[in-house]
Amino acid sequence: AEKAVWGPLVGAVDQGTSSTRFLVFNSKTAELLSHHQVEIKQEFPREGWVEQDPKEILHSVCECVEKTCEKLGQLNIDISNIKAIGVSNQRETTVVWDKSTGEPLYNAVVWLDLRTQSTVESLSKRIPGNNNFVKSKTGLPLSTYFSAVKLRWILDNVREVQKAVKENRALFGTVDSWLIWSLTGGVNGGVHCTDVTNASRTMLFNIHSLEWDKELCEFFGIPMEILPNVRSSSEIYGLMKAGALEGVPISGCLGDQSAALVGQMCFQDGQAKNTYGTGCFLLCNTGRKCVFSEHGLLTTVAYKLGRDKPVFYALEGSVAIAGAVIRWLRDNLGIIKTSEEIEKLAKEVGTSYGCYFVPAFSGLYAPYWDPSARGIICGLTQFTNKCHIAFAALEAVCFQTREILDAMNRDCGIPLRHLQVDGGMTSNKILMQLQADILYIPVVKPSMPETTALGAAMAAGAAEGVGVWSLEPEDLSAVTMERFEPQINAEESEIRYSTWKKAVMKSMGWVT
Ligand code: ADP
Repeated sequence: AEKAVWGPLVGAVDQGTSSTRFLVFNSKTAELLSHHQVEIKQEFPREGWVEQDPKEILHSVCECVEKTCEKLGQLNIDISNIKAIGVSNQRETTVVWDKSTGEPLYNAVVWLDLRTQSTVESLSKRIPGNNNFVKSKTGLPLSTYFSAVKLRWILDNVREVQKAVKENRALFGTVDSWLIWSLTGGVNGGVHCTDVTNASRTMLFNIHSLEWDKELCEFFGIPMEILPNVRSSSEIYGLMKAGALEGVPISGCLGDQSAALVGQMCFQDGQAKNTYGTGCFLLCNTGRKCVFSEHGLLTTVAYKLGRDKPVFYALEGSVAIAGAVIRWLRDNLGIIKTSEEIEKLAKEVGTSYGCYFVPAFSGLYAPYWDPSARGIICGLTQFTNKCHIAFAALEAVCFQTREILDAMNRDCGIPLRHLQVDGGMTSNKILMQLQADILYIPVVKPSMPETTALGAAMAAGAAEGVGVWSLEPEDLSAVTMERFEPQINAEESEIRYSTWKKAVMKSMGWVT
């Protein structure tokens, strides 16, 4: 059969904590043409530790690219129409590898990992000058969450890495850097780079000057020669060195939450989106200015879509555990066989019946930043069953979002009038309705839920030298939305919310 005629297409890697995807979009209509997804293993070698295998991550990306290209072939779509590839990735997760062999020198230390709790405690006693030293430069609180302390731990504890640093063989990167270096050739001329959004999550990056910060590197004891070059989020970094898409430029790179902000077209000051994946992340575009939170939110780089384009910033509320609590109910308790089944259980009861579940598995992030918090399920009676616990788990995701939205409204002054959402969990209709009820504002979901990948594809397609995607908002005016309106009254919602806060207080300060 003759191949159908297509305009330029753009591919996007979405390398998340739970899974890897590769998706191909039509650059003129933003229509998703084909994709492939592979779940990623997580290892928990000790209590509080979370690791992944960098080779598995890389292979999953290559597998998704090849499988998607096969599927396009079956649809009679010529893959030579793919003009660019964007990368979006789980942020903060830390990889160190050997540039002479291309092999990782240690497992990837995942953002959720808590092993650096004592590193953080001892560093916080040594902060030079005032307590604002780290936050004023990076927008971040000193926390286990960010890459600098994970890298510090690796440098202190992994002999192979110490040796490689001494012999000038070690490279550090977040997952974007590891992937781009490997895909552009690895030991044969791989490009060692990252983008400003990913760099802004390392705690080594000055978000005002947009450069690695010498004083921060000294404070954390990080040798600057192992750091990647920092580039904009939209420019040609290098070409694919192998596989079905050999020769195609990689020209977009954004941390997953920034990518979702772009994919949801939140380009205006005050526009926000909330993504429900492993964790939950609410980002609000604050335009060209860095806004510092008084209420436990982070200041982060939203995007810089081109070498000569301005940088945009965002306020971010980060929740460590959202979808991960569903995965935990599946893998650790076995009360469901698939994540989707949670909806059926919750629907059976339609209430938690006074049961509250605070999933502080990795401490609490925004707005509390308490690494010593641990998960609790409370309010149990003889009557409580697994359906109530399932419901409480979904409710927990909504309450955590409510806490962040409250903080965001206080910091921004202008309350959000609706919430734009996306991410793997948003296919759960009960969750979406609960969220509208608990926030008491409408929740709005795009019909094409892969906004993270879309954002990366947009950045790649719009890059100088590619130029197949225009970032003018009317391009996506055809996107349809699903709306969830609040259905319970505000008073009822307030009572539930204040009981939730009581439960949070009980989870805090658990580990001493
Ligand atoms: P990430 O980008 O962090 O890899 P995804 O956006 O792919 O995450 O979402 C996957 C997460 O969403 C998993 O933790 C999974 O348990 C959860 N999830 C997926 N489907 C549902 C569902 N129908 N209801 C509740 N949670 C779900």
